[in-house]
Amino acid sequence: MSSIALIGNPNAGKTTLFNALTGSNQHVGNFPGVTVEKKEGLIRGRHNMNLVDLPGIYSLSPYSAEEVVTRDFLIGEKPRAVINIVDATNIERNLYLTVQLMELGAPVVVALNMMDEVRANGDVIDAELLSKELGLPVVPISASLGEGLEELMAQVSALAAQNVPSQALDLCEGPVHTAVHSIAHIVEGAALRHGMTKRYAATKMVEGDGPVRQVLALSAAEEDIIGHIVEAMETSLGTDREAALADMRYLFIEGICKKAVRKSGLNREQHRSARIDNLLTHRIFAIPVFLLVMASVFFLTFGFFGAFLSDGFSFLVDTLTGLLDEGLAALEINSAIHSLIIDGVCAGVGSVLSFLPTIMVLFFFLSILEDSGYMARVAFVMDKLLRKIGLSGRSFVPMLVGFGCSVPAVMATRTLASKRDRAMTILLIPFMSCSAKLPIYATFVAAFFPQNGALVMTCLYLTGMLVAILYGLILSKTGYKGNSVPFVMELPAYRLPSLKTVILHMWEKAKDFLLRAFTIIFLASVLIWLLQSFDSRLMLVSGSSSSLLAALGRLIAPVFAPLGFGDWISSTSLVTGLIAKEAVVSTMAVLTGSGDGLTLSSALQGLYSPLQALTFLCFTLLYMPCVAAMAAIRRETGTRWAVLAMVAQTGIAWVAALLVRLAGSIWL
Ligand code: GDP
Ligand code: MG
Repeated sequence: MSSIALIGNPNAGKTTLFNALTGSNQHVGNFPGVTVEKKEGLIRGRHNMNLVDLPGIYSLSPYSAEEVVTRDFLIGEKPRAVINIVDATNIERNLYLTVQLMELGAPVVVALNMMDEVRANGDVIDAELLSKELGLPVVPISASLGEGLEELMAQVSALAAQNVPSQALDLCEGPVHTAVHSIAHIVEGAALRHGMTKRYAATKMVEGDGPVRQVLALSAAEEDIIGHIVEAMETSLGTDREAALADMRYLFIEGICKKAVRKSGLNREQHRSARIDNLLTHRIFAIPVFLLVMASVFFLTFGFFGAFLSDGFSFLVDTLTGLLDEGLAALEINSAIHSLIIDGVCAGVGSVLSFLPTIMVLFFFLSILEDSGYMARVAFVMDKLLRKIGLSGRSFVPMLVGFGCSVPAVMATRTLASKRDRAMTILLIPFMSCSAKLPIYATFVAAFFPQNGALVMTCLYLTGMLVAILYGLILSKTGYKGNSVPFVMELPAYRLPSLKTVILHMWEKAKDFLLRAFTIIFLASVLIWLLQSFDSRLMLVSGSSSSLLAALGRLIAPVFAPLGFGDWISSTSLVTGLIAKEAVVSTMAVLTGSGDGLTLSSALQGLYSPLQALTFLCFTLLYMPCVAAMAAIRRETGTRWAVLAMVAQTGIAWVAALLVRLAGSIWL
């Protein structure tokens, strides 16, 4: 089994190529930072080749966790071939990584991607000339159209069979050349011992790369000589060491591109994108436009399609439950079992299930926003805002993922460069309201604010973000002083979202949601039914208020009494919400005994006033995340921090809910 690595800049089309070559269905996004962990898959038709999709990076410097992961993989695992995917519409910037792979001495095949767009723009790239100049095989492809993949794999196979590193082209000149070559002699032995070429080790020493220096562990005398050589280079060039190498690489790339790339001058795509960007990333309008876009998405989701689809779907669920109910009655099944199935499983799972269409519609719109390239603009705009709390637009990527689910969001913080940014972002992620909370909001909105559904939804999401910003401000003034690493992000061109990607994304969400409904929510509903049907002596109770669960619920209920919902049903639901947020709804459905002609809406109306409902929503929006998210946070930050974070977050939720209650009782 030979392993083939797939490397490229964020958004160069790695995942698209990975899916095309392996036939898998990974998430593709017109959004940098989507691939966090390395993924592997067998190449179709070549079963002895394992393709590894590495995170997107711009360079092999040790600035971010991903860059280090990629480097370590290349040096440690020595893949038989490296496919370096290059976005041909941004060829100069993409070749920067290629040049560094050459320095590393990796066996590289360049996959020149997005050739369809290059053609559409009227540009021409001479792949043969490029190949000659780089000293590497170059294959023009279009990953999304599946063009050139045969040829690419032929080159990869040839390279993998040969098993020789690429011919190290000498691209340096002048003082850098002198420095690299004199240092190469010094580091040669240490470099070979650690699986690096002497040229790579020397280049990294000239650059002043900390991790490589540590690995090489040169003697003090050697370090000293290197220091002198680098100093001499810096004086003769008048720039610092890092800039010297970057300049040299860009000079080399520029020279090649001048020969091999012919731009038609007028790039339609870029012109169009720039015009759209004038508005969407405008100094003043950008944030109002973003709020408007999100509000429209919520309006379409909850006010328009969602409500209508959800009602239809609820009707379907109710009808099926009714049929099952009659069937069980006709078969004269034991009444406890009958109740377990109807009042436990059907009520619980059914109450959550009816939001499947809403979730799908929401993610339909969100993936359109993402795939079109708009979300990348939002990250760019948010950069300025996040800087005020000492974070950067990079942190926006995981936060955005957090609107789906906190677990992958917390994992996505690994893409952040500094430990401080990571820790702070992780603390803020749970305030981005995850999609599992959506059924809770939708249930309450339907029961209490049917006229202003979209407005209440938008306010909830915005409140989450606002609290996160305030919390971030406090953190940055206290425990997390400092500035974020600069944020550079290429804004991808606007693209018409592909239906396939959007549907794939929607399907992923739906699958996930269904899986949760039939596993976690199912089990939670059964458990809640059992606990509410028996008392402490395991006797079947007549009404759930004398059950074991009610007794347990009443134990914690006083905590919520100041917030206005000190009844045992609310407190029990909030606790089961820690298993999974949807369980708040399913628990309420089971406990209020909705189903027997009584809808959950009317049951809730009997339980809360509109203000109590609002307070409850505010608390659910902000209080500690579910166990899966807590586990993810613990994994990334350690037990002590995770516990502190949970306590702080629940405290914030409690205070915020109290404020809502007080404000409400003054105004309403
Ligand atoms: P990654 O970040 O490198 O994994 O990139 P993705 O595979 O997620 O692709 C980024 C964007 O580029 C997506 O919107 C893809 O649909 C698009 N894309 C990928 N390959 C091509 C291609 O060959 N032609 C065009 N026109 N678009 C592509
Ligand atoms: Mg990707």
